[in-house]
Amino acid sequence: MKFSGFRVVAEALKGNTGWRPLWRNPEPENEYDYLIVGGGGHGLATAYYLAKTFRQSRIAVLEKSWLGSGNIGRNTTIIRSNYLLPGNQPFYEFSMKLWEGLEQELNFNAMVSQRGVINLIHSDSQRDAFRRRGNSVMLSGAGARLLSREDLRSIAPFLNFDDERFPIRGGLLQPRGGTARHDGVAWGYARGADLHGVDLIQNCEVTGFRIVDGRIRGVETTRGYIGAGKVGVAVAGSSGRVMAMAGMRLPIESHVLQAFVSEGLKPTLPGVITFGAGHFYISQSDKGGLVFGGDIDGYNSYAQRGNLPVIEGAAECAMALMPSLGRARLLRMWGGLMDMSMDGSPIIDRTDVEGLYFNGGWCIGGFKATPASGYAFAHLLATNTPHETARSYRLDRFARGYVIDETGTGAQPNLH
Ligand code: FAD
Repeated sequence: MKFSGFRVVAEALKGNTGWRPLWRNPEPENEYDYLIVGGGGHGLATAYYLAKTFRQSRIAVLEKSWLGSGNIGRNTTIIRSNYLLPGNQPFYEFSMKLWEGLEQELNFNAMVSQRGVINLIHSDSQRDAFRRRGNSVMLSGAGARLLSREDLRSIAPFLNFDDERFPIRGGLLQPRGGTARHDGVAWGYARGADLHGVDLIQNCEVTGFRIVDGRIRGVETTRGYIGAGKVGVAVAGSSGRVMAMAGMRLPIESHVLQAFVSEGLKPTLPGVITFGAGHFYISQSDKGGLVFGGDIDGYNSYAQRGNLPVIEGAAECAMALMPSLGRARLLRMWGGLMDMSMDGSPIIDRTDVEGLYFNGGWCIGGFKATPASGYAFAHLLATNTPHETARSYRLDRFARGYVIDETGTGAQPNLH
């Protein structure tokens, strides 16, 4: 399709009647080889790699609402691979490498922008922890730089360096980190999957699993029963509810995470800045809006709706970090459902039901994982063996004591 400024103007004058949808809108077949439940980033990426890379066919994605209506379209778009633990680091670095080639792979502008991610340091002990993380990240080849207070001041002079409670002593920079346009990622994977023959079925909620003699046979949906050879579940914040329909209780709780965007401003922020001590992080979108967020809401919920105390907390942190923000107007805020695992790391695994696979537990940081998660889940579904970077993401690690407790390192709740 030809896409130019002239075309946009011509379409506007014609009432936008000439645009063609990026994917088909098929009726569901009676049966597929593979059903992916959840049309978020992870489900769409899984379907794409399953068809394109692993050359499987007869695949459908079942989405209860519209594609991209969940967290893939609600997140704050941060990507990075500065993970510390051996269970996580290779996986997130694999994801970063996929991000770096994603636009060529999908022939779609996902606005991947490696403008750098800085984690602020407020104390000597935090500097030690971040130095350790930085060294480990450098050893893995993902790239990191420890910034002194003066280095940081030259990059971000507007920060409140001398806050009484949380003076800023420096930062840890991952130059290859940055942002990507979240819904562009969903659309790119959706179009790519559709071009490879995947049926993307919207407004189709999975309401039950048909399991016979310990094997999956298909799913019940709001559009009728659909048979399947294998079923992969990637429903993020709805993981607990959906897997309960297969008789499973997961080590996952759902919480709301809220985010905020200001009116458009001139370029102000150099990249992403995380203020772990204050539970706050911020970046600037290409449109100029300051995009920021805080911590998860404290109680469990399946409602994509936030609460006022968290809004107040985020605003207070914003003022503590960047007092000049007080003059910007807040444009809007929203919430998404987080699938919080008990060690902060994800699960990509088979289940006790033959042919039923699970992908979830992404907590507050699954957007950056989208490419690797899709690739690894497709690998698992196609070959029945885990991808080499996702071997640690087993469901039984909680029972065996092999947790990947990355929540305990530094200011993790705010690293995103
Ligand atoms: P989703 O897009 O939520 O996809 C799951 C889909 O499953 C949904 O579309 C849902 O409708 C569908 N579904 C649910 N139940 C059913 C059913 N029964 N039948 C059929 N379909 C069903 N991560 C980062 O890495 N960086 C960030 O900066 C970042 N910031 C965030 C900020 C906010 C405010 C939020 C909410 C999240 C943030 N995240 C971030 C986390 C990230 O967005 C998620 O971890 C990730 O998007 C989850 O995977 P997904 O895209 O597949 O989820």
